[in-house]
Amino acid sequence: MFDILNSLRIIDEKIRELKRKKKNTPENLVSLKKSLMEKERKFNEKKNNVEDHKSKEDKIKDSITDQKDKLKKAETKLTEVKNAKQYQAGLKEVSQLKKSVSDMEKQELGLMTQGEELTKAFSDTENEYREFCKTYEAGLIKVKDSYNLIERDLVDLADERESILNLLTDDVKQKYLKVHKNNSGHAISLLSNGRCGACNMMLPPQLCNQVLKADSVHICPSCQRIVIHIS
Ligand SMILES: [Zn+2]
Repeated sequence: MFDILNSLRIIDEKIRELKRKKKNTPENLVSLKKSLMEKERKFNEKKNNVEDHKSKEDKIKDSITDQKDKLKKAETKLTEVKNAKQYQAGLKEVSQLKKSVSDMEKQELGLMTQGEELTKAFSDTENEYREFCKTYEAGLIKVKDSYNLIERDLVDLADERESILNLLTDDVKQKYLKVHKNNSGHAISLLSNGRCGACNMMLPPQLCNQVLKADSVHICPSCQRIVIHIS
């Protein structure tokens, strides 16, 4: 009987361990998903930076074209002036427009350099994000596989447990099931140096002797589990 109880103890331990793993599986997925979302957020942020910057560059390019048109017209007008006063005014306009074009071109150059840096930063983030998407997909498959494996093992262990349970006498079986239910699946503990292996409580010497004798099922007074001794 004690060999049967010990087999049950080992199976129950495996079941508890698998259930713990099963419980952790969704947590692993959540943390993986969190990392993915963080990479995605950075990716979108850098992408928006590049797009915003591009529209600034386009805007300045349009302004330069516009100013250059005005400059061309002012220069043409200068050839058609009729007196010195108009000529002076025309020269002033041309000079102002030239300065404005030159300032804008400097601005454009600065924006272009900045744009290259932003594009490079975006490209790095994009690569990182794409790489992580692959890692995420692979991780997802791995987690699902391990989950399915746990489920399958749990079914197998439940079957095994059921057939072992049927080897017990009705009386011991009922006792075991009751203790199992009251202790979240941890029904049997091993006697170890006079202590209960589950709660570590020192057992009274008389009880220890009875457990060692293995004449009947004994309960730990502290955690209420069945204590057995394996020689
Ligand atoms: Zn105990």
